Amino acid sequence: MADIIDGKAIARQLDEKSKAQVDEMLAAGMTRPGLTVILVGDDGASQVYVRRKIKACEKVGINSNEHRLPADTSQEDLLALIDKLNKDPEVHGILCQVPLPDHIDTRLVLRSIAPEKDVDGFHPVNVGRLSTGTGGIVPCTPLGVMILLESVIDDFVGKDAVVIGKSNIVGKPVANLLLDAECTVSVTHIYTKNLPELARKADIIVAAAGAPELVKGEWVKPGAVIIDVGITRIMDEETGKERLVGDVAFDECQHAKAITPVPGGVGPMTIACLLANTVQAAKALQGEGDKTDQYADAPSRTMFTEAASDS
Ligand code: NAD
Repeated sequence: MADIIDGKAIARQLDEKSKAQVDEMLAAGMTRPGLTVILVGDDGASQVYVRRKIKACEKVGINSNEHRLPADTSQEDLLALIDKLNKDPEVHGILCQVPLPDHIDTRLVLRSIAPEKDVDGFHPVNVGRLSTGTGGIVPCTPLGVMILLESVIDDFVGKDAVVIGKSNIVGKPVANLLLDAECTVSVTHIYTKNLPELARKADIIVAAAGAPELVKGEWVKPGAVIIDVGITRIMDEETGKERLVGDVAFDECQHAKAITPVPGGVGPMTIACLLANTVQAAKALQGEGDKTDQYADAPSRTMFTEAASDS
């Protein structure tokens, strides 16, 4: 049987670490980390995500603030709000929940967030730093994936990794982090011709396609480590109820060394990493750390190693 990688437990450890860092910051006379979340419109799923993020802040002692704006908010007003938050010394993390209404240019809005407050890691400056291995804020889900991998893998050097999915928010940043860890990485997608064959050679499979149970048991070599990022809500015909399904046929993959469940794997890590990024941004903005590399201590460099070794 494969070991189940317990994302909930590892996320809890990361939260404890973030809380301890907040306490240390306060003891050193620094300002409490602050996260501001902007929600435009009334998308139901976004409201749930924002509520969860705000509630999670309380757990670790981060000040949180929410700006709920009507769906017809103009782009100009949204940019003016972000500009104000960029200049506010009490705000260390700014997150603009996507999707945004159609009349707003999402890329422009995400680019207008100060890179050092971009705790989602979506700003081109942070994307560039990640892809050149020069720090920056790492997007939350990919960071969570690496922490989970580090909980079961001691040495990444020379491992073959297959990433399924090449989105900007998951697949590509995960591939960059694995490359930084000295893996040989194949980034695959919907048009990849020989995906099962590539997957069968992999020591590490990260599935982020949004395709329910795409990865079959026969795609997985014995002893591989599998991280299942996918989440799709499907109707269970037997029970008549909705349930969440990952991108991996979990029951067929028990010959893997370790595997994440869905739910309870990557999901809980995403919010824990958002909190960790906010704490790190608050420290960097208050001048802690190496001034030549503002993010020398960013989670991408140290936190996932430490979190994993604590587990
Ligand atoms: P996306 O739709 O932006 O990208 C999907 C990628 O997968 C694309 O590159 C596409 O080419 C590839 N793909 C799709 N079907 C494929 C197939 N059959 N074979 C090979 N490649 C295929 O999706 P995303 O935003 O990267 O999200 C991917 C999944 O991860 C979704 O299920 C999403 O809900 C989930 N997700 C989970 C979290 C979390 O916190 N757990 C966070 C982000 C995304």
